[in-house]
Amino acid sequence: MVDRYLAFCRFDMQDARGLEDSEERFLADARDEVERQRELYGIVWDEALTRLYAARSGAAYRFLRQYGVSFERLIERPLQHTVHRMAKLDDTFALRPAFRKAFDERGVTVHLQTRGRQLVTEGGRVTGINAEDAAGGQRHYVARRGVVLTTGGYQAGAKLRRRYQPEHLALTPYLGVSTCRGDGHLMGQSVGGDLINMTMVPPLVMVASAFVEDAIAVNLAGERFHDEAGPYDQRVHALLRQDKREAYYIFDDATMQKSRHLVEQMPAEAISATSLAELARGLGCPAANLEKSVADWNAFLATAGGKDPGFGRVVMPAGRRGITAGPFHATRMVVGVNFPAGGFRTTQSMAVIDVFGQPIPGLYAAGDTVGGVNPCLGLGGIHISSAMTLGFVAGEAAARRETGAVHALAESGEMPAPRATQKMAIVHLPKE
Ligand SMILES: Cc1cc2nc3c(=O)[nH]c(=O)nc-3n(C[C@H](O)[C@H](O)[C@H](O)COP(=O)(O)OP(=O)(O)OC[C@H]3O[C@@H](n4cnc5c(N)ncnc54)[C@H](O)[C@@H]3O)c2cc1C
Repeated sequence: MVDRYLAFCRFDMQDARGLEDSEERFLADARDEVERQRELYGIVWDEALTRLYAARSGAAYRFLRQYGVSFERLIERPLQHTVHRMAKLDDTFALRPAFRKAFDERGVTVHLQTRGRQLVTEGGRVTGINAEDAAGGQRHYVARRGVVLTTGGYQAGAKLRRRYQPEHLALTPYLGVSTCRGDGHLMGQSVGGDLINMTMVPPLVMVASAFVEDAIAVNLAGERFHDEAGPYDQRVHALLRQDKREAYYIFDDATMQKSRHLVEQMPAEAISATSLAELARGLGCPAANLEKSVADWNAFLATAGGKDPGFGRVVMPAGRRGITAGPFHATRMVVGVNFPAGGFRTTQSMAVIDVFGQPIPGLYAAGDTVGGVNPCLGLGGIHISSAMTLGFVAGEAAARRETGAVHALAESGEMPAPRATQKMAIVHLPKE
């Protein structure tokens, strides 16, 4: 099963529940999230573009509904979205036929298995693209109005990630397709496109939330060490602080039977044993500690308490399953990536802006090739709907050959001049 969540602002699912939303409120939530992320990454946030996304997202929602895409319910994430605006797709695979129908109606030709390689320019304007078909044949496509880069993110681009992430994180696995290598990022860069937020590649522990509900995690001492269901960044930091950066989810066979598909999706293979003591031997941790960690967890679940006293993990009454009957299983916690934030700076018409602050004629971007909105990605549900919403804007602007004006970004100002303080020594290197 593939669940996907899309955030919109002011749409009929909110109306049906009497929920009041506004662009201002969306922006306030986004601003809070961006401020939180500034602690971790160097960020250039495009507030005006985020406002445009919020303002036009309702139209993207209505487009999807018009083409037969339906939504099951609103998902509540009160810490991020202060009003419910994240909608769960009924069937993620319904998106494909919807787009196919929309393309057919508009006479759009789709070239599958064709990889864009290089942009072609004439007199500073992007006028086409060179591509390669599945058999390695070279093709040239003329773009009379413009090229819109929509090649997704760079999570599968090992070389690119190594430029922007610390080594031990740059080599971690990714979720999603192997073709999101950052081709569009490189093509746009080759004609001067200004990439922003490239270091923001938030690591996450690769595990499904539905599985975590029924498991605990222990380190090599056999002890729990964090809130397994806490915010993604905090889970990663907790794991990286453990001995050898090693820890395991522990779960019983009932969970294995219920969630086998989720266990199989995880990067590391499960280790199984008939008893917890034998499992501890397999993991190399003290058996008594592992048994105690499991016993303590089961004892907590047997109480009426909703919050684990050790690490503050919130357990819903409906999800109170212990780790009780063997065989028992463990699967290693693996850090990976899912949502890289970096992409091009654009105008409000989605024209790519070059490193000197001028729009590049004939070049547009949408989706994960755009950097401006992504710093608020922690809100949840913003990727697919912003890709669609701003993709419409890019398409319309390209059809009109309009680039739009360059606007100011929310970035920090000039560097303060260096000043010697009691805590800072200025060291002069000796001459050779
Ligand atoms: C497991 C998982 C769960 C997710 N869940 C959510 C969610 O619930 N909500 C949400 O909003 N987002 C979610 N996302 C993120 C979301 O899927 C992406 O951010 C979004 O699809 C980006 O849209 P896009 O059109 O920019 O790129 P993509 O959807 O990634 O599409 C890019 C396409 O370009 C193709 N391509 C790449 N290079 C070339 C080239 N050189 N030439 C031609 N084609 C090329 C790729 O093959 C791919 O088909 C999830 C991602 C993953 C991996």
